[in-house]
Amino acid sequence: MSDHLSIAIDGPVASGKTTVGLLVAKSLSARFLDTGLMYRAITYVVNKRGPGTPSAADMTSIATSVKMQLLMKDKEERLIVDGQDITDQLREPSIERMVSQVSKVSGVRRELVRIQQQIACEGPIVMVGRDIGTIVLTDATLKVYLNAPVEVRAQRRYEETGNRTGLSYEQVLSDLQERDSIDTQRADSPLKPASDAIIVDTTGMTVTEVVNLIVKSVA
Ligand code: C5P
Repeated sequence: MSDHLSIAIDGPVASGKTTVGLLVAKSLSARFLDTGLMYRAITYVVNKRGPGTPSAADMTSIATSVKMQLLMKDKEERLIVDGQDITDQLREPSIERMVSQVSKVSGVRRELVRIQQQIACEGPIVMVGRDIGTIVLTDATLKVYLNAPVEVRAQRRYEETGNRTGLSYEQVLSDLQERDSIDTQRADSPLKPASDAIIVDTTGMTVTEVVNLIVKSVA
């Protein structure tokens, strides 16, 4: 697809992909794309249409018609949809609960993968998600799969968001288990390590250790 640096980082919820990916991108002077934000943005627009789960065709039509713009502001990725910066709304529990349902839809995936591949062609990139090594950047320079037991990931997510969302540790754990289950069992592009990915269990590792390991593996 391209001959510049591309790093694919995949893994389940709260495996540390975004924090690590941003720092790896900075260290290698590459751009950063968190593809999860794109699935969340489609979910946001779907939720705005009102209660009830829309059909796969409706969700696909939303994915093909919204105008999505990703930009970096104050070292943070921002997502503008139809001219409005919706980044701060994308981590709300209503999105968390629904996003894996939206990302199961093949038409939604097809459209977002097309945009992601286009972005990747424009220069060096670190991309994080669920299917980057297996579908989006199959010829990536380096593929990494970050993992940790679900209890460890739930504890991290609880510490990050517990106060803001008011969710208990048990609720966070149960939400993660449900999302893991949908993401790994869906028919289209299920979450799994690419056969040529480096698998890193981040339990007990600091962010800096994970970043250094990835940067060293590129060299
Ligand atoms: O990474 P994040 O938790 O923000 O992703 C939200 C959801 O978007 C995931 O649970 C998954 O259902 C979906 N997703 C996906 N493929 C990607 C990135 C995210 O299916 N490449």
